[in-house]
Amino acid sequence: MPRPIVATIHVDSMKHNLALAKANAPGAKAWGVLKANGYGHGLERAMRGFADADGLALVEVDNAVRLREMGWNKPILLLEGYFDPADLETMADYGLQAAVHCKEQLEWLEAKQADLSARGVQFDLHLKMNSGMNRLGFMPDAYAAAHARLSAISCVGSITMITHFANADDAEHPLLPIAEQVRRFEQGTAGLAGSRSLSNSAGVLMHQKTLRNDWIRPGIMLYGGTPGGVTAESFGLQPCMTLSSEIIGIQNIVAGDVVGYGSRFQAEGPMRIGVVACGYADGYPRSAPMGTPALVDGVRTQLVGRVSMDMLTVDLTDLPSARVGSKVTLWGQGMPVDEVATAAGTIGYELMCALAQRVPVVEG
Ligand SMILES: *Cc1c(COP(=O)(O)O)cnc(C)c1O
Repeated sequence: MPRPIVATIHVDSMKHNLALAKANAPGAKAWGVLKANGYGHGLERAMRGFADADGLALVEVDNAVRLREMGWNKPILLLEGYFDPADLETMADYGLQAAVHCKEQLEWLEAKQADLSARGVQFDLHLKMNSGMNRLGFMPDAYAAAHARLSAISCVGSITMITHFANADDAEHPLLPIAEQVRRFEQGTAGLAGSRSLSNSAGVLMHQKTLRNDWIRPGIMLYGGTPGGVTAESFGLQPCMTLSSEIIGIQNIVAGDVVGYGSRFQAEGPMRIGVVACGYADGYPRSAPMGTPALVDGVRTQLVGRVSMDMLTVDLTDLPSARVGSKVTLWGQGMPVDEVATAAGTIGYELMCALAQRVPVVEG
């Protein structure tokens, strides 16, 4: 029999979460963001789950091509744009849209515009503003000039104005509140006509009423993770990935015995320790400390000792009926991924994206 670990992907929950995103942003169109292999859920599964999206957005050019080959015929957006001039050919061949965030991308487009427009290519592009995150985009005071330069390129069809929030989950951030990013965006785009796209999941869930978006760009919420603030469940989101395994061994230990590498845990009294077939080589975070929650036969318990490559250990002392073969839920339905992530000092995004290749995936 295969090792008992499995990731179950809930495609119907993706549909539910997308519908919730759209309901939160009436009148706006929605990109379903499926970079990083659909946040670990699988590109093809995410494409099916987001069949009702108005477009799909990602950062990997090869996966954008795969989406076309799998039959997606609505818009596709490259969120980091094109990485070299050759990508412009791929965009033309497969009808891809792209962000434009730096002057090099403008130059590549200018250099190829004659060829591309001779072929009848008209790109739909998304001019990105750096409204304070200082990752990608043109500064607010350089934005209008970049817009004019892009508009003058013969193979450019439409230009959407986009930016990205650093702290949409923390509106009162002392250094860069969302209102300040919006202020800079409004200032930099003043007088420019065209569609706008600002909101990630946190923007959609927490600020939609105050933001004007023609296109929203939800990611994590579509997979049932919270972008921050309150729990995913309280937003009405459903988990889309359940990572489960089984107890494959049990040890009865006494006071003074230690568990796992580094002997980081020492029992103070008699205990039953369950060994679970799931480790950091499956994508479970090695940083998860003792006390991180897990479900055994649907009952909440917690990790003891260090996570190792192929196994982790849980406390079964208060679960006398647990035995070899008992079902363990590491995260997903019944055990919010965000709770596990918080215990491990990270975010649900990272856990889902890091699901390892060796974990078998099924749908359910
Ligand atoms: C990943 C990404 C998103 C989605 O962000 P979430 O926090 O997952 O909703 C939106 N916009 C851009 C530009 C992104 O790179």
